[in-house]
Amino acid sequence: MKRALISDIHSNLEALEAVLADIRAQGIEDIYCLGDVVGYGPNPRECIDQIMKCKVCLLGNHDQGALFDPEGFNTGAERAIFWTRDQLESTGDDPSAAHRRWDFLGVLPRNYQEGPYLFVHGSPRNPLNEYVFPEDIYNRRKMEKIFALIRGHSFQGHTHVPGVFTEDLRFFSPDEIGHQFKFGDAKTMVNVGSVGQPRDGDPRACYVVLDTEALTVTFHRVEYPLEQTVQKIYAVPELDNFLGDRLRDGR
Ligand code: ZN
Repeated sequence: MKRALISDIHSNLEALEAVLADIRAQGIEDIYCLGDVVGYGPNPRECIDQIMKCKVCLLGNHDQGALFDPEGFNTGAERAIFWTRDQLESTGDDPSAAHRRWDFLGVLPRNYQEGPYLFVHGSPRNPLNEYVFPEDIYNRRKMEKIFALIRGHSFQGHTHVPGVFTEDLRFFSPDEIGHQFKFGDAKTMVNVGSVGQPRDGDPRACYVVLDTEALTVTFHRVEYPLEQTVQKIYAVPELDNFLGDRLRDGR
């Protein structure tokens, strides 16, 4: 059975629509979203409306920031979060849609376990806020503590850097493994990358397909009309132009 795993959409509707079309084209129906539906980008409402159809959606730190008090964000990210909150609070001519979105975000879980598979936004140890970067393979204490919490395989986003961490403390970028990894007996931690703001130097939207029969994860990249997103970001004074510029470089 195949599931598509998406994360860190960050209100980028053009990227989300391109990814959803790519997933549909493969005949995959079950989509799990690992959080950060909003924050940074220009279309929070439209992205939530799409993500509400996913089978599973987890709470990300930016979703939490929009709902409650943003903590630990830099100035540009915080401004984007306050603007996002305004967008979600303004009921406009469709109050029931606004309530529906707010209620949806308000009850999102922080983790989801399905057999040997654990899904979180940040890390198994701190599902909402902890980053696990590729260079953390040199931080044995941290990685051993995190792997101890994993039963089989975990999936996360948050860093926007896709790849596979193995229990023997190695990290493989999608390029290094031909975009596919086959699970063995050892535990693994998979970062599914970011749909709406990739930061691994590839500006294309990123997502993963988990095949629980073949026991593989496959990394996918999808082109989208990112110049449209950039121009929308430029047009909103509360969103720093940098948030658009970085989409062009995937940084
Ligand atoms: Zn994020």
